[in-house]
Amino acid sequence: MGKNLFRRELANLMPYVPGKPIEEVQKEYGIEEVIKLASNENQLGPSPKAVEAVKREAENINMYPDPGSMELRQAIAKKLGIEVENIVVGNGGEQILQIIAQTFINEGDEIIAADTTFTILGIAVDHMGGKCVSIPMDGYKQNFKGFIENINEKTKLIYVCNPNNPLGNIATKEEIDYLIKNVPDDVVVVIDEAYYDFAKVNPDYPETVSYLKEKSNIIILRTFSKVTGIAGVRIGYAITSKEIATEMSKVKGTFNVNRLAQAAALGALEDEEHIKKTVELNYKSLGMMEEAFEELGLEYVKSNANFVFVNVGKDSRTVAQELLKRGIVIKAGDIWGWNTWLRVSTGTLEQTEKFLAALKEVLKELVSA
Ligand SMILES: *Cc1c(COP(=O)(O)O)cnc(C)c1O
Repeated sequence: MGKNLFRRELANLMPYVPGKPIEEVQKEYGIEEVIKLASNENQLGPSPKAVEAVKREAENINMYPDPGSMELRQAIAKKLGIEVENIVVGNGGEQILQIIAQTFINEGDEIIAADTTFTILGIAVDHMGGKCVSIPMDGYKQNFKGFIENINEKTKLIYVCNPNNPLGNIATKEEIDYLIKNVPDDVVVVIDEAYYDFAKVNPDYPETVSYLKEKSNIIILRTFSKVTGIAGVRIGYAITSKEIATEMSKVKGTFNVNRLAQAAALGALEDEEHIKKTVELNYKSLGMMEEAFEELGLEYVKSNANFVFVNVGKDSRTVAQELLKRGIVIKAGDIWGWNTWLRVSTGTLEQTEKFLAALKEVLKELVSA
């Protein structure tokens, strides 16, 4: 029994630690209403058209799904003015990031990313025996100059999160232009646009699909989890060159996207009304939070996503714990090394009000304590 059964890299990976489920918070603190603003979910609910589609599709779950998600890819291709061969659909954006690591990373290969960003690709790269080179932030921004300076012969991928999670701010068209122009053709730029529909209202947000006309070393990631509100069925996609899409498809898994997810996404894609309502509510909720933060004199990052990053000036874990007692779940920033910051998702106006009231109460209490 001397041999190590497990893949070497697993020794350095940690199991995902989930936030407290709502039911547990209710029991532990004896509160009925729990507001979860921790995972950037759509508090308006799922797209009604997606729900209808899932109900209809439920009759067919004795049959395997379409391995190529053809109908959905056709609909996305038509909407974006690209071809089906440019699209790979995954079991959530998360799976797309894992597929990317499996497609490109040999042992010892490197990727470059900001030191405060979404970590799923980094974890998948570690799993493949690659290395994630973290570039310190330039204030609140991803430091693209630093990205470029750190490219070497081992670099395979550059990961850009736009808007960046957990900060919520965008990289502008000018900044993305600079990055794309300075990355050599044998390095692939992954642009994570999980919050695309929220961000595109900002006129400085780039329309990256057009880069694919000239460049083949780009992968754009989008998801149905956030704006369309169907995180629970798991579906997202990559937009990339045909060459990269072909290689990614080899490792995606045969039936990686289930029937209910494909149906839900098709429904959600044409539900412009739900998207519009969601984006409108999002900016109302953000506006309320920004106004309150300013009143309280709290530093925050200007967001174009469905969450905001705020410096509460107190230990983030203590504040998170106190909010939890009041039935509000948010993400404490210490997990990214921002020890006095919180990431709070937008919600309904009522949820946002309740969060702000609780935050004011908690901050007052921590001052007098
Ligand atoms: C939510 C999110 C994703 C993908 O989420 P899925 O639910 O797996 O589609 C990808 N990137 C970022 C930055 C996200 O916040």
